[in-house]
Amino acid sequence: MFPRIFSSSLLKFASMHQEFEAVIGLEVHIQTNSKTKAFCGDSTAFGASPNAQVSAVSLAHPGTLPRINKRHVEQATLLGLSLGCTIQPITYFDRKHYFYADLPKGFQTTQDGSPICIGGTFEFMHNEKVHSIRIHHIHMEEDAGKSLHEGEQPFSQIDLNRAGVPLLEMVTEPDFRSAEEVHDFIHALRLHVQYLAISDGNMEEGSLRCDCNISVRPHGQETLNNRCEIKNVNSARFARQAINYEIQRQSKIMREGGMVDQETREFSASTGKTTLLRSKEDAHDYRYFPEPDLPPLHMSPGDIKQLETLVPELPLAKMSRFLELGIEEKDARLLVGNKSASDEFDAYLTSDREHTPRAIAKFWINQLMPQQKERSIPEGRALQKRVREYLNLLDGGKVNRSAANQKLWPVAFDSNLSLESVAKEIGILRDGSEALDLDSLVKDLIVQNPVEAEKLRRGKKGLISFFMGQVMRATGGKAEPQKVSEAIKKAIDQK
Ligand code: ADP
Ligand code: MG
Repeated sequence: MFPRIFSSSLLKFASMHQEFEAVIGLEVHIQTNSKTKAFCGDSTAFGASPNAQVSAVSLAHPGTLPRINKRHVEQATLLGLSLGCTIQPITYFDRKHYFYADLPKGFQTTQDGSPICIGGTFEFMHNEKVHSIRIHHIHMEEDAGKSLHEGEQPFSQIDLNRAGVPLLEMVTEPDFRSAEEVHDFIHALRLHVQYLAISDGNMEEGSLRCDCNISVRPHGQETLNNRCEIKNVNSARFARQAINYEIQRQSKIMREGGMVDQETREFSASTGKTTLLRSKEDAHDYRYFPEPDLPPLHMSPGDIKQLETLVPELPLAKMSRFLELGIEEKDARLLVGNKSASDEFDAYLTSDREHTPRAIAKFWINQLMPQQKERSIPEGRALQKRVREYLNLLDGGKVNRSAANQKLWPVAFDSNLSLESVAKEIGILRDGSEALDLDSLVKDLIVQNPVEAEKLRRGKKGLISFFMGQVMRATGGKAEPQKVSEAIKKAIDQK
């Protein structure tokens, strides 16, 4: 609870002091889903017991040699192509030296000095508008291991499973102006890498971590002031909190006539504050030099063209397509935000021409996605078949829609029987001898088609025939048109 109260009071504080503008640039580390490490064949699977995924290469034994991971290169290129970056035909790897217990080589192999992707832009939704920030570059590098300092133990432990795991580092231009923008960007980037299928984007497992560079300046000033860098922020929420804290801290220094020192800081989720890690004077000299054990990396125009064909439809494009199909905006947003659900939805759409995309989207969100969250249900063809069968059963008027949604759909995948048989078993199948309940059928249809119903209510008479058609289809043409039109008028007036 504490951090939330804290951050909202910070927001108020920040908006009270608008004489300063925040300038923010990010360095985002994306852990890719390559099954093997960046420079050797060790597994990258998450959750293995400590030091189970470390060969002589990961342990940096003398005489071991690295090799470039093809998948890593493809993932970097794919990310770059999806953002309009220029892919460099020849790039190199460097050694970036520093001493750390979880870095057995004594250096990190990185492309920082000659990145594979240059330029490009990232577009995302912020405050209901498409927002765009420029990318400086994206480069390939490897992760370090993990040091564990647990409990009261007088020693630390090292897990080298993560040493050498492939990373993509995206460096943005200092184009962000608020913590909220950064928050929305991180969520959008996470979805973006999931769409590209190059990373799970899982922040809890550390697949997306970012260093946030922040400075403040008086409005109207063009030059940049000194910045602070907050290291290794591992969630969008923490980034927002850390940046807001930092804006407030730096604004206060400026207001009091001081100068912000260029320094590296760290964020604590428990206090909501950033604290000094090291000042500029302690900055590392990494002694970069070219990695002699790796050849230059060549990307031919043919390689690039081929990867270009693998860039899928991206979230913003999918969003506009869904809106064009008439899907309600909030539903479209929920679908687009879930890659696998929206893929299933798309596959189903092409197989069902009878229901509107809007109605199918509603079904997906209200009935299918909640089920998927709770338990494992079939995917692909098997799923499509059952959905189809269920919607047809509803259309046929043999079950009451809300009874079916509550009782039949939740057990739809528990049996191989037809859904009609299951409906009969659980006692919600309408008996054929029962008089056709036109009124409840019409009510169901009105609930399913709220927009049309509202238009009819407002006097768009032509829509009577829309509802008539639906009733006729549901009853197999058995209903009497005169009665149907009366039932529709009655239901519309009642509401
Ligand atoms: P370094 O060489 O120290 O890594 P870079 O110039 O590569 O610094 O910038 C690193 C990140 O910091 C980039 O995302 C960049 O946009 C951002 N940045 C640079 N200067 C500033 C500044 N004055 N204020 C805010 N962000 C900045
Ligand atoms: Mg840099």
